[in-house]
Amino acid sequence: MVKENKMDKIISLAKRRGFVFQSSEIYGGLSGVYDFGPLGVELANNLKNLWWRDMVRCRHDIVGLDSGIFTSPRVWEASGHVSGFSDPLVKCRVCQTRSRADHLLEDLGIMADEKMSEEEISKIFDNNRDKLKCPKCGAKDFTAVKLFNLLVKTNLGDFSSENSEPIYLRGETCQGIYINFLNVLNTTRQKLPFGIAQVGKAFRNEIAPRQFLFRTREFEQMEMQYFIKPDEGLTEYQKLKKYRWQSLLDLGLKKENIRWHQHENLVFYAQEAFDIEYNYPSYGWKELEGIHNRGDYDLTQQSKGSGQNLTYYDEEKKEKITPYVLESSIGVGRLFLAIFCDAYDEDEIDGEKRVVMRFHHHIAPVKVAILPLLRKEELISGAKEIFANLCKKYSCQYDETQSIGRRYRRQDEIGTPFCLTFDFDSLQDKAVTVRDRDSAKQKRVLISDLEKYLEERLN
Ligand code: ATP
Repeated sequence: MVKENKMDKIISLAKRRGFVFQSSEIYGGLSGVYDFGPLGVELANNLKNLWWRDMVRCRHDIVGLDSGIFTSPRVWEASGHVSGFSDPLVKCRVCQTRSRADHLLEDLGIMADEKMSEEEISKIFDNNRDKLKCPKCGAKDFTAVKLFNLLVKTNLGDFSSENSEPIYLRGETCQGIYINFLNVLNTTRQKLPFGIAQVGKAFRNEIAPRQFLFRTREFEQMEMQYFIKPDEGLTEYQKLKKYRWQSLLDLGLKKENIRWHQHENLVFYAQEAFDIEYNYPSYGWKELEGIHNRGDYDLTQQSKGSGQNLTYYDEEKKEKITPYVLESSIGVGRLFLAIFCDAYDEDEIDGEKRVVMRFHHHIAPVKVAILPLLRKEELISGAKEIFANLCKKYSCQYDETQSIGRRYRRQDEIGTPFCLTFDFDSLQDKAVTVRDRDSAKQKRVLISDLEKYLEERLN
């Protein structure tokens, strides 16, 4: 019998329980795009809200923004994306599968990355052709390496058939921040150092989006750009690294599954670049979040491109400076997948095997399930009354289908911390049975005490 690996089980659970669906599935699927189902959208919203809490609401020095997905094409020319935002593509001549040349090399332990020029990476690729195999059919017959631009073009506002200057879907959310730097500076009372944060969709024509939510063509980013005086770089960068690391641990990621990775091959403008990597089952250690000191490159480029002066008047030095930018950037999908992998567990309760998602309480998509023991009118109305009270505070689920044991298993599988069962005794003692997801222990709690009981445990 083939043993299903952990990632296969996770992907299957994500679909079976309504967390994640392949986009356009009824039409055979659209590669590199996923839809969040009823539970997925709750989990993703919890992750985004907690990020926003940590990065905006708890920080007097950071403000939020929601910029348009469409921008002037000049933005992407100035940022260097039109000329240089590319990945090295190779195609298998036998089965036509496209792959990233840098990833094929990395898988063999050969140092390569997408920042190399076409010439550099072609040379390394050609020197190793005898070892490189197509991941789909195993053939060793690849085309030459070609750099492929990842920006997604649209025909927005183009009513002719020529489309000489396409409008792009944004390839990253941070450009929307740089082009609003002056607007924020002029309308808030922020002084350096200060940050601008936003959460939003980004689009990339990824060559080989084969790793579920890890690499998709449409994805959401949570990005914060922190503007600093150049000489504050070192201390502020250390502070940001520490803050982001702690924030991921607070979400519930296990310390042993994250690590720092320092970039060896820096882009020419970067001062320092570290990623936080997560140890994904089957995929191994991969970038979850990037934390980079980008120098003054971004504001300088957008200043040159727009002809606007994107500088800051330094009152101490009595001179205009172009701030440096420290960036923290994490994808919602990659974080979702990491949280999912960390939470997945299998154990045995009373001799019966179960799958349990051990989400931390604050990110669990459903906090409380309310279950009438049987489908009897008096139990249903008692349970529904509790639901009506608790749903204003917590994300709750009401479920009256199947046996109580099966309903518990289902709630374990979606990671619901507490199940409340309304039974015949509840009509007399005005209490319900509260079952704890992790220990499966049960306790009788008065209905009038429920709010307090849950508040102590969930908040
Ligand atoms: P990779 O090297 O893995 O392609 P990247 O270096 O291109 O990633 P960045 O441009 O630094 O990624 O983007 C910042 C963050 O956005 C990443 O750390 C990741 O969490 C997320 N991200 C980037 N590309 C994708 C994608 N195709 N699918 C899902 N998330 C992504």
